[in-house]
This record gives sequence, C-alpha cells and structure tokens, in this order.
Amino acid sequence: FSQFQRFSIVRNFKIKIRLNSTLAFVEAKEGAIAPSSLSSLTAATKIGKPITALLVGSNASEISKELLKISAISKILISKNSKFDHYLPEHVSPLIVDILQKNQDFTHLVVPGSTVGKNILPRIAALLDVQPVSDVMKIESENTFVRPIYAGNAWETLKNNEKLILLSVRGSAFPQIEINSSENNNISIEEITAPETISSVEFISEQLVQSERPDLGSAKSVVSGGRALKSKEQFEQIIEPLALALNAAIGASRAAVDSGFCDNSLQVGQTGKVVAPDLYIAIGISGAIQHLAGMKDSKVIVAINKDEEAPIFNLADVGIVGDVFQIVPELTEKIKNL
Ligand code: FAD
Repeated sequence: FSQFQRFSIVRNFKIKIRLNSTLAFVEAKEGAIAPSSLSSLTAATKIGKPITALLVGSNASEISKELLKISAISKILISKNSKFDHYLPEHVSPLIVDILQKNQDFTHLVVPGSTVGKNILPRIAALLDVQPVSDVMKIESENTFVRPIYAGNAWETLKNNEKLILLSVRGSAFPQIEINSSENNNISIEEITAPETISSVEFISEQLVQSERPDLGSAKSVVSGGRALKSKEQFEQIIEPLALALNAAIGASRAAVDSGFCDNSLQVGQTGKVVAPDLYIAIGISGAIQHLAGMKDSKVIVAINKDEEAPIFNLADVGIVGDVFQIVPELTEKIKNL
C-alpha cells in the first residue's frame, strides 16, 4: 500500500468504543432544578464518567435551559409527557428502566435522596433485579461508596460489583453543583418517547403545606421544637418568631409531630428529613438517637433544655439549661435587636 492508501483504510475503519456514562435523574421544583438534584449532580461528577441528565414532565424543556449552564453535563434527555408532572413512581420508574435497558452504555444511575428519589429507586431496582445503594454520603471510586447504617450511628464503606450501579444520594453530604451564567452550546438535547405503561395509577390532587419559611432540606439554619412545647399554639408562638428572626426553616421532633404541634413534613430524624445546616437549634428536644440521625451533621448545634442530663447536650456545641418558654422569647428579642 502507498502511504495514501493506508491512510484511507484507517479512516474508513470504524472502531466502536464503549463509552461508559452516568444517567442522573433531575427533579424540578417550582420551575427550577430542585436543590437535592443540584447536590446529586455534584455526586454524579465524583463517579468520573460523562453525565447524561434526565428531565421529565411538561416543563422539561424550560428546566433544560438551566441544565445547559452546568458544564459537567454532556447530554440531556427530556420526556415532555405531562403524565410525569407529579413524578408518580409507577410512571417514572418504567421510563428509567426503559432508558437503561436500551442504552447499555450507562453504568450508573444517580437519583437525589428526596421523596421522589426514594420512591423511584427501589422500583427501578426491583424491575431490573439489581441491588441499589441508598443514601450515599461519599463516593470513593466508581464502585466504592460510603453510607450510614444503624440509624446513622456507623458509616459503612461498600464495594458494589453490579454492572449497573443504582445510587440515591444524601443531599446534605454534597454541595450543590455550580450553575454558570451562560449556556454551553455543546450539550446535546434529545427528546425521548415514554414507553406505554400499564399502570392505572393517576394523579388526582395534592395538598401542600404552605410556608413562608425556607425549605427544611436546604435551609442554612433550622429551628426545631420538641414535646416540651406542649401544644400547637405554643409551638407556633415559641418556634416561629425565632425562625423568622433567623430566616430559618422550622423542624420538629417526632414527638412534636405525633402530638399534632406541626405538620409531619417538618419531622427531622431517622424517619423524617435528614438535615445538615450551618446552625441547628433544638428546643425542648431530648436527643433520642432517632432524632440525632437526622441532624447530627449540622455544623453548629444549639440545645435548649431544662434537663442538664438530656442526651442532646452530649452533641451540642452550645447548651442552654433552662425553660424554653422563658429562654426562647428572650433569645428571639436579642436576635431581633442585633
Ligand atoms: P422527649 O423525649 O419527651 O423530650 C422532651 C425534652 O424536652 C426533654 O428532654 C425535657 O427535658 C425537655 N423539656 C420539657 N419541658 C421543658 C421546658 N419547659 N423547657 C426546656 N426543656 C423542656 N424521633 C424523631 O425526632 N425523629 C425521627 O425521625 C424518629 N424516628 C423514630 C423511628 C423509630 C423506629 C422509633 C422507635 C422512634 C423514632 N423517633 C423519632 C422517636 C424518638 O425515639 C423520640 O421518642 C423522640 O425523638 C422524642 O421527641 P422529643 O425529644 O421532642 O420528646
């Protein structure tokens, strides 16, 4: 062969390279990418493979404009079908299973550890017969992850040898991914068609608790009340003004929720939300391990309790021993006058 002929042979020979990549499910909230998904996208970057983001629902095109500003994303898949608007797991899970089965290049699926993520991941895992890894707090390598066990009392490092690794990510463990000011035109957007699902489940209505306060899952400060508040009225009178003065989200112990002092969406703990704000103020909360599981990673913990032996003081950076009905209004006034 002449030099030229050899060159043409090489040029015409197509080598199929298997490009492993991560599929990141992105949830939207109030017309923007949900904070939990901004954190799970950061987690997806730690896997070290190209990231394809998946957006579903009738506002998927609109939200994709925000995704175009995230440089770590190389491709966006959107399904604009309105049946995905409320993220019903009976519809979303078969869609993701379909994508994963048709695109064998995906080696990882990352979902946020939000209610939506927790709803869809087990279904996807069951449909694919794959063991999922939930509540990931650290990604050590593409198959080695750290997650809490025993209600957060220990961390386990596990190696997952599945060909397809399914992960849900604890939002408070990863910073939110940076959104640039301009769009990256190199990101391709592909519209996909949803498979016909046989599920008869449909969305009827929802009743959301309206609150002026920041979102509990992503707030920088949280003021939480416990059983000591005694009633719904006193919970509101004591907790709300302090939360307002600090621009903090409101949280609660399970005892406060079960006693009807506030809505159960405010519960912090093992069976509630896991938060890690800069400041967590526990008011009249004893510090049971199930509560600590939801807030012990907070940067500064302040506890107010009349019992100086209360377990919460073992964890608190600042402890105030005294009656919440006296201390909290005083503290609120002082903060307001700062
Ligand atoms: P208590 O334990 O009754 O404590 C009240 C505290 O207030 C006491 O320390 C008391 O000294 C103090 N106090 C009373 N009056 C005053 C006053 N006037 N001034 C100052 N201090 C005062 N709990 C959660 O919070 N979140 C969870 O997600 C959760 N999940 C659970 C899951 C399981 C499977 C189980 C079994 C339990 C779970 N629990 C959870 C419940 C948990 O074990 C505790 O019962 C609960 O956290 C107690 O709430 P509390 O601290 O408000 O109430």
